[in-house]
Amino acid sequence: ATPMSIMTATGRGAQAGVLIKNAEALERFEKIDTLIVDKTGTLTEGKPRLVAVMPESGFDEDEVLHLAASLERGSEHPLAEAIVRGAEERGISMESASDFDAITGKGVKGSVGGKPVALGNRALIEDMGLGAAELSEKANAHRDQGETVMFVVVEDTIAGLISVADPVKETTPAAIKELHELGFTIIMATGDNERTAKAVAARLGIDDIRADVLPEDKARLIRELQEGGAKVAMAGDGVNDAPALAQADVGIAMGTGADVAIESAGITLVKGNLDGIARARRLARATMRNIR
Ligand code: ADP
Ligand code: MG
Repeated sequence: ATPMSIMTATGRGAQAGVLIKNAEALERFEKIDTLIVDKTGTLTEGKPRLVAVMPESGFDEDEVLHLAASLERGSEHPLAEAIVRGAEERGISMESASDFDAITGKGVKGSVGGKPVALGNRALIEDMGLGAAELSEKANAHRDQGETVMFVVVEDTIAGLISVADPVKETTPAAIKELHELGFTIIMATGDNERTAKAVAARLGIDDIRADVLPEDKARLIRELQEGGAKVAMAGDGVNDAPALAQADVGIAMGTGADVAIESAGITLVKGNLDGIARARRLARATMRNIR
């Protein structure tokens, strides 16, 4: 493309809140056939809310939330914020935790009031040698609603389940429809579990999912698709997404997301809505058509 046509395209994009880094990003974007999207903060608002606290026998609902929220005060994860905010709204007190430790893609551990407490997903409790069929049934009922379920462990017993919901952004359903019309295959990649991921993907008509994905797996997934001949763009918002954004032929960062994600991206969506991707595609097509 000529420098002039590229400048026109990037200028138009910028006016609409779609920041295209350079000519290379624009040219590459025209050839993309596969779009990987992160779930939390990309398809969804990324602001989950506490839905339910379900104590196991021998534990009390308020106590479970107290322990969970006290621990999550040390975490910056959106799930942690949902639990802390939920406790505040219910008037549940918190205390400071010690020995806090975050386990990437799994959850958090620490000590609250002298008791060891852990909070996270099934992988976390499996690592601790815990888990039961009856617990998974309870969890699955919530996951089928697209909610994320976390297990609260006190000492070496499961004290309860906590469920949170992260609503899909208002702009997402129409954006997904438009991206399909533009010919993209859309794959959702998430650290969340398969059941929750499927419920969200089904509602949106997403083509495929990769669930229980660790941050380093997202980059590997993209590499594999590229080796199979796909031209891959990845849209994400988190610090965790940066390696995948860098691996993709074109990385797309949410302007509302982490700085390191934006630095790794060829395209930044200022408003953090996926409809900007369709606009970028149309600009790329128009620009490349002009020069052929
Ligand atoms: P994503 O942003 O794609 O959802 P993450 O790697 O951030 O992926 O999280 C993956 C999973 O690990 C979460 O769905 C949750 O079950 C668990 N997890 C991570 N951090 C926390 C936390 N602070 N508290 C509870 N669970 C967590
Ligand atoms: Mg995310």
